[in-house]
Amino acid sequence: MERKQFDLGDVVQMKKPHPCGTNEWEIIRMGMDIRIKCVHCKHSVLIPRAEFEKKMKKVLRQAASDSAQSDPEGH
Ligand SMILES: [Zn+2]
Repeated sequence: MERKQFDLGDVVQMKKPHPCGTNEWEIIRMGMDIRIKCVHCKHSVLIPRAEFEKKMKKVLRQAASDSAQSDPEGH
């Protein structure tokens, strides 16, 4: 099983888009719970980590960091 990788500042896609029509969420807080913010309407939601991992589809953009560049797309 591959673990989903995500980090603070990443923009992720969820399985369900926000009612505003956008499916891009920025991770603005990491902890036991994850807080994500809709990039379009700025609405933010707090989700337990386990639930977030279930609902998150993929990482669209990673926050600027040096270590994340060698990771190939997909799989
Ligand atoms: Zn929204």
